[in-house]
Amino acid sequence: MIGRLRRGRVAVVEQAPTSLSPFAAIPSLYDKPREKYDGPVVQIEEVTRTYKLHGNLVYALQGINLTVQPGTMVALRGRSGSGKTTLLNLMGGLDRPTSGKVVLEGKDITRLSDREMTVMRRQKISFVFQAYALLPVLSATENVDLAMRIAGFPHRIRTRRSHALLDLVGLGKRADHRPFELSGGEQQRVAIARALANEPTIILADEPTGELDSVTGMQVLKLFRRIVNDQGVTVIMATHDPTINEIADVTYHITDGKLETM
Ligand code: ADP
Ligand code: MG
Repeated sequence: MIGRLRRGRVAVVEQAPTSLSPFAAIPSLYDKPREKYDGPVVQIEEVTRTYKLHGNLVYALQGINLTVQPGTMVALRGRSGSGKTTLLNLMGGLDRPTSGKVVLEGKDITRLSDREMTVMRRQKISFVFQAYALLPVLSATENVDLAMRIAGFPHRIRTRRSHALLDLVGLGKRADHRPFELSGGEQQRVAIARALANEPTIILADEPTGELDSVTGMQVLKLFRRIVNDQGVTVIMATHDPTINEIADVTYHITDGKLETM
């Protein structure tokens, strides 16, 4: 009874217009909510990645084990060359491990064909890069729209969704601007809106604040945090930024391709 009363009260609060989450206004691409996988979103088991360079072996990752729970923000910190990008690329299926397993929502992606991997990526994974990687000839809205267009979603929902996502990242008024008309922080916000477009389970962010001043960088980190809290998406981020410790749920340190919890 108390439980019911308490739930009832929460429901009333949530319905008040002032406390509506911005995500409430973002129309979904899917008619029904997609099935939620009940378990870790990422499991990395004994992963190594070795490169051959001029006849020498480079041990980029040396026996990584990592489990990531859904709806969390995970940080990977480490010096340049420690293996952060290699690890993110493996999780995103852009690269394959030399040995070990990469399991996303229970599925061993190291066993997928390239074509299956592409489909998986399109539906579940998005990337945010240090250098934003927006297409310069497209407006902010068009940049956000593109991934949904490639995935074949209809025009109407794409337009509504890209506007809602740009509102969410605080760029509703800049929707028609091209990247060169936006600041670095604004471009990264567009890239974050784009990353959300396909309703991914995982966003992999590779040093997303690396080219931003500390104040703007902090705003971007907080935006990621809000997205994790409100949308339940999982963010895994490589960063040098020490302030990440206050914002991420878990921070790992990578040294010479080995992982330690901080
Ligand atoms: P980080 O992102 O932490 O700076 P990387 O994952 O890019 O580190 O690199 C880890 C190590 O692997 C480095 O020693 C780097 O030189 C090496 N490496 C990365 N990619 C390649 C490649 N394609 N060929 C050879 N060596 C590579
Ligand atoms: Mg890197």
